[in-house]
Amino acid sequence: MSTLGGKSIFAGLNLLTMYDLTPEKRKQLWDRLNAAFEQYYTHTAALPVAPPLDKPAIQAFIRQSIGPPEDLNRALDHVLEGLTRYAVHTPHPMYFGLYNPRSSFAGILADTITAFFNPQIAAWSHAPFAAEVESFLIAELGRRFGYPESFIDGAFTSGGAEANLTALLCAAQHRFPERKHAGWQSIAAKPLIYCSKECHHSVIKAAQIIGLGTNAVRSIDTDAALKLDPQLLEHQIVRDLEAGYLPMMVIATEGVTGTGVIDDIPALLPLKEKYGFWLHADAAYGGAAVLSEQHKHWVAGIEHADSITFDAHKWLSIPMAAGIFITRHPDIMGRTFGISTEYMPKDAGGLDIVDPYTHTVQWSRRFTGLKLYLSVLMYGWDGLEQLVEQQISTGEYLRKRLSETGWKTYNATPLPVVCFGQESMERDPAQVNALCQKVISTGKAWISVYKINEDYTLRACITNYNTTGQDIEQLLGVLEELMRAG
Ligand SMILES: *Cc1c(COP(=O)(O)O)cnc(C)c1O
Repeated sequence: MSTLGGKSIFAGLNLLTMYDLTPEKRKQLWDRLNAAFEQYYTHTAALPVAPPLDKPAIQAFIRQSIGPPEDLNRALDHVLEGLTRYAVHTPHPMYFGLYNPRSSFAGILADTITAFFNPQIAAWSHAPFAAEVESFLIAELGRRFGYPESFIDGAFTSGGAEANLTALLCAAQHRFPERKHAGWQSIAAKPLIYCSKECHHSVIKAAQIIGLGTNAVRSIDTDAALKLDPQLLEHQIVRDLEAGYLPMMVIATEGVTGTGVIDDIPALLPLKEKYGFWLHADAAYGGAAVLSEQHKHWVAGIEHADSITFDAHKWLSIPMAAGIFITRHPDIMGRTFGISTEYMPKDAGGLDIVDPYTHTVQWSRRFTGLKLYLSVLMYGWDGLEQLVEQQISTGEYLRKRLSETGWKTYNATPLPVVCFGQESMERDPAQVNALCQKVISTGKAWISVYKINEDYTLRACITNYNTTGQDIEQLLGVLEELMRAG
């Protein structure tokens, strides 16, 4: 028998039952997990929304001995306990937080299926079903955003941050084709990116990653409605042109992360015409409005954007992460990311297909699109429309009840995000932060603090299709009690 370092090289044969386990053992573990999942999914509301943040306790919990490797039940229980005890429960109906949803069951099933089949979508020929499902969804979404059918391209991304990075890369490629090989040093122009001061910070990070630097991002003040101010934008563009800069790109945010405000794309279009910049719509959250017949006019004009970021894992209740980049320049992604290799499969050489690795930032690709595809199969586009509309109504109820109970609101948006507070404390960050912390430490609700211009506000957002009017009344109750206690 041949040996390697004293061990039989055939010892590896035992790995099959060690790694896959036996059918009986697998069933036992699934049953155990399923019971825990049911407990969590059905009774999420019974948990405190947020745990105390005790780093040493968490580290000690992680490092504790969890027994011999064969104790599989204990291993599972340990992980479930860690996640139950030490996480903000974003699936909780009283989580009024950032755009993190409860995972729908279709999304959960899809992630499980993807883990089993593990399709590799880097090359089309390795996972043609998965690749075509994603192309189908990109085309469907592009059409719903109003792009002309034969001009739609895009890709699933790791999230909105990668989609925004992709937008910057495409905008650069579009303006400076030579940059791909010769780099920025081959370009005399000094390109700039413009967005409102409320834009998502992933834009600033992307400017740094693509080598323009964060100083190349011009942060434009907002108007009275907290939208990117087109007049100030134009003034800045004119000043920059005079100083020898080149306005490469403007980013409109459709659903600002802090305030839910929707930048006015139609007001930016004359400037696009005049100055020729790439217009990107960061609709990571608010883009879901296009799924509602009644409300899609909120993002009107988005069909004129050169590209769009949309996150299915925000409003559509899909487990993280499912970012999407869509463009109406069908050749730009191939020109931006095209590369040829010797070792990638070429089985599909004669077919009219696109290999995603030649088209995107990522190489190995997970089947992210399945979460959205299965949601469409199980709930229908109609079901997604209802999800969007229900959260809009819940948001309207929250806004109405806050003002009825004496709170001032600071952001005007139709999206279910409310920034609120009291005039007496709006300039007192210590007081607003303390109130927010008190809310969180009750374990009954999770909200955050957001600064709008000079005012400190509390921010509550509807992110969960399980959040009801009763939950909102409970939030108001918690706030009232804490205000009374002072
Ligand atoms: C969440 C968000 C992003 C970042 O997306 P990730 O999926 O977290 O990477 C970008 N822009 C906006 C407006 C967002 O709300």
